[in-house]
Amino acid sequence: MSDTLPSSVDCAVLGGGPAGCSAAAWLAQLGLSTALLERGPQLCGSLSSLRYPQDWLLGHPGETLAALGERYAAHVDKLAQIHTELNTRLDHLDWHASEGWTLYLHGGESIRARSLLLATGLQPRRPEPLYPQRPRSTNVLDSLELTERRESLKPGHTLLLGGGDNAVENALYLAARGHQVTIWSRSDWRAQTHLIQQLDAAETIVRRPACAMPATVQIEGEQLLVRSKQFGDEHFDHVAVLLGYEPEASAWLLVSDALQRAGVTAPSHPFRDEPRFAALGLFVAGDASGRQHPSVQTALGDGVVAAKQVENFLRPLAESQPPLALRRNNRQVIHISGLRFGANLGVLDFEREGPQPILVDAEVNLGAQTIVSRDADIGHVLDYRRIRQIIIDECTAEHTDLLEALLGKLCTRLMKLHGVVGVRIKVSKLEIFPDCQVAISAECGQW
Ligand SMILES: Cc1cc2nc3c(=O)[nH]c(=O)nc-3n(C[C@H](O)[C@H](O)[C@H](O)COP(=O)(O)OP(=O)(O)OC[C@H]3O[C@@H](n4cnc5c(N)ncnc54)[C@H](O)[C@@H]3O)c2cc1C
Repeated sequence: MSDTLPSSVDCAVLGGGPAGCSAAAWLAQLGLSTALLERGPQLCGSLSSLRYPQDWLLGHPGETLAALGERYAAHVDKLAQIHTELNTRLDHLDWHASEGWTLYLHGGESIRARSLLLATGLQPRRPEPLYPQRPRSTNVLDSLELTERRESLKPGHTLLLGGGDNAVENALYLAARGHQVTIWSRSDWRAQTHLIQQLDAAETIVRRPACAMPATVQIEGEQLLVRSKQFGDEHFDHVAVLLGYEPEASAWLLVSDALQRAGVTAPSHPFRDEPRFAALGLFVAGDASGRQHPSVQTALGDGVVAAKQVENFLRPLAESQPPLALRRNNRQVIHISGLRFGANLGVLDFEREGPQPILVDAEVNLGAQTIVSRDADIGHVLDYRRIRQIIIDECTAEHTDLLEALLGKLCTRLMKLHGVVGVRIKVSKLEIFPDCQVAISAECGQW
């Protein structure tokens, strides 16, 4: 992961869930630069509350999705070609036939991307007037809110609207924790057989299969008034609206707006995988594609497919370069040699009195270069002036006792730069002895 937002990348991935992470990791494998933009505070945050063991994750029996999500995020963090931006909000998008996509982030930064991948997932359906938006009541919950709060929800009269896995599983969970549960579905139960069998056996749960949904849910003091033709007026302490999910609309609306301004017919929502949009460098992966069986594993697979689609789209741009096999073996290295300046360094008394002259030689490995080098586009390459300045800053910011520690700081800082896969560095003390110089070198990353 790199630290500063690059000015341009091969692909901007919106959404850092399993689909976005999988796509970004594959794009990195393919040698393409990626900006992974996530509006939440962490990658795979959608999995963080899913802490129950899963038995169908092939190769990971008993694993929780929360644990898997943490591992996906840690993997992405280690990949140098991916720039991850968390807590970010996309304000505006532009598309131009010659330049591709420009993303304007909240806070004023912008980034150009040859291709754009939407991996923005789903949001719970919150149909009015069952889930009143105004005034909001914390006692009316969507499925994400229920998952987050169900452990601490004070037992009471609880109504679950829905008849799928989520509703039935939550009905059983809440009934076991002392809630008086009513589960109400507009169709017959659609949950897995073992859940329906448990529901049938749970005598305390009031079951209402194949009943028309209530007309409204209204806030009445501390309670919720649920009105329906079939059951009249009823009061509940909590209502959970578990009526499924729909593709998250925020990014799609910006895409749609950008394309319309460019005179291109925007995709329908949910946006599916359509070749005419691939020609614009626009792709979709994971739950955002409105797939029928959303799950972590399908999202991971979608990420792989999308990365390959992006590579196919970008291939014509790279045609002026040597064949892929050659580029893979190719290595570009930035050399900084003979950089001399004064640094506060060393444990000896006279070394503590003031700066001493040192000499730094550095090699920064950028790995295989698969991107077309756009002449005069300094934003697309690593600027060696930055490397020089970072070396000086790290060596002069504070006193460092050990040369080894200084080398460690330099390696860590340089390895964080976007696109850097390896660092070799040598620091020499020039005047430590009258008759010789002393130097230590270090090497890290790929060489
Ligand atoms: C309660 C619940 C239980 C589930 N249980 C299971 C289960 O047991 N097994 C299973 O396999 N799956 C389960 N799933 C489904 C699984 O979580 C999803 O299928 C999977 O996470 C989809 O991955 P994704 O990357 O497509 O979307 P998500 O994981 O939803 O990731 C999308 C990401 O995009 C971000 N985002 C959205 N809009 C923007 C924007 N405009 N800009 C930047 N970022 C944005 C979101 O913050 C989010 O991090 C469950 C889901 C829920 C809600």
